[in-house]
Amino acid sequence: MNVNDTTSAAVLEELRRRPADRRRILFTGATVVTMDPGLGVLDGGDLLVEGDTITAVGPRLDAADAVVVDATGTILTPGFVDTHRHAWEAQLRRIMPDVDDLGGYVMATLAGYATVYRPQDMYIGTRLAALTAIDSGITTMLDFSHNSRTREHSDAAVEALRDTGIRGVHASMGPHFGDWDRQWPGDLARLRSRYFSSDDQLLTLRLATLATDEIAGPALAYGPELARVARELGIGVSVDAVFGTASSDAVLRWAKDGILGPDVTLIHSTGLTPEAWQAMGGAGTTVALAPTSDAQIGLETAIPAVDEALSVGIRPGLSIDVEVALASDMFTQMRALHAIQRMRAVNGVHGTDRQPSRITTHDVLDFATLQGARTNGLAGVTGSLTPGKKADLLVIRAEDLNNMPLNDPIGTIVLGSDARNISAVLIDGEPRKWDGQVLDVDLAALRGEVHASREYVLNTPAV
Ligand SMILES: [Zn+2]
Repeated sequence: MNVNDTTSAAVLEELRRRPADRRRILFTGATVVTMDPGLGVLDGGDLLVEGDTITAVGPRLDAADAVVVDATGTILTPGFVDTHRHAWEAQLRRIMPDVDDLGGYVMATLAGYATVYRPQDMYIGTRLAALTAIDSGITTMLDFSHNSRTREHSDAAVEALRDTGIRGVHASMGPHFGDWDRQWPGDLARLRSRYFSSDDQLLTLRLATLATDEIAGPALAYGPELARVARELGIGVSVDAVFGTASSDAVLRWAKDGILGPDVTLIHSTGLTPEAWQAMGGAGTTVALAPTSDAQIGLETAIPAVDEALSVGIRPGLSIDVEVALASDMFTQMRALHAIQRMRAVNGVHGTDRQPSRITTHDVLDFATLQGARTNGLAGVTGSLTPGKKADLLVIRAEDLNNMPLNDPIGTIVLGSDARNISAVLIDGEPRKWDGQVLDVDLAALRGEVHASREYVLNTPAV
């Protein structure tokens, strides 16, 4: 078994010597898990990146003048896509690991800590979340940024995404509680022209909103008015806190009003009625599951609604949600969903002669990559190793202690791997993690900023 250190310092130096827009990188001899239904898995395959784009996948590619990365003994796979995380909370991560109801979370975080956040705290939390995401193989992150108290808070959150080099989706919402400038949603037009003017850039903008007025009143609740704002700007909508009967009623209203569709993502979607699911399937709405959030915090039925989504033809994306109480990475989401769905499937037919309908490791990797991209409105851009898409990819060491010997690449990614096995992360063709380290981060300086922000937030009385 020939295993090479694919991502040595010398190769990185050579990569960085070349102009990024014309650079060619040829990965050779890898197990390529494309997640493209037409391309499947290639054993001993090559992958060519030119500038920011994947231009070829296949056996023994030739590419004159390319930097060659010997990827023997590794798996190449698309970067993971997080469809919903509240990134600004990262300096509060695991502050309430045993929270067991939504009200407890809301009162401590959204009605408490959130109210004292300054723009720099938004920047530090969002940057920390994005860097951690990159380290664990998430190349696209939808930041459901629901603490936009002023224009400057929004700017700080967007700039934090930009400064990490992640493929960021900034989904903007005003805060739930406390004093704020009431600049949202009107300020979305300014944000769009300031940060999101190109159709071919790393960052995209969405409107973030809640399903009902139950948590924070009518101003933040999705309806015809907010749908009009989003459609006039040509941006998608991400709706959080979609659960239970009130949300089910809302879904039926939205369907009637014509404001459901592929550009609308419903997050969680736990405890919805069959009628609501039929309406979502009919409208082609996308769904962002939050497997650990639903189960651990106990949102409505606490069951991640993957079977309900699949039964109406919706293949969902996966999401991390809040680091205050949950894990930060996609491996945890994939494994949680895989185990929970199978438990539910078998439990549902136990003692009968019916057969359980189980999802597979391929299904959950599809949800974590290609379906996540589709959910975030980026299906043509990322989520699979398809020639023509942007080069957002992971190099996973398949012959590390915990992965050797490589017997099944998808099983190895979904059930065996974790962040330590990711030797390299490329986003838009640019190395962001190399030789096991996130690049261009002064960890000591970052730690100082994170601690200072955490101290300020914890020690300032809520307003
Ligand atoms: Zn959420």
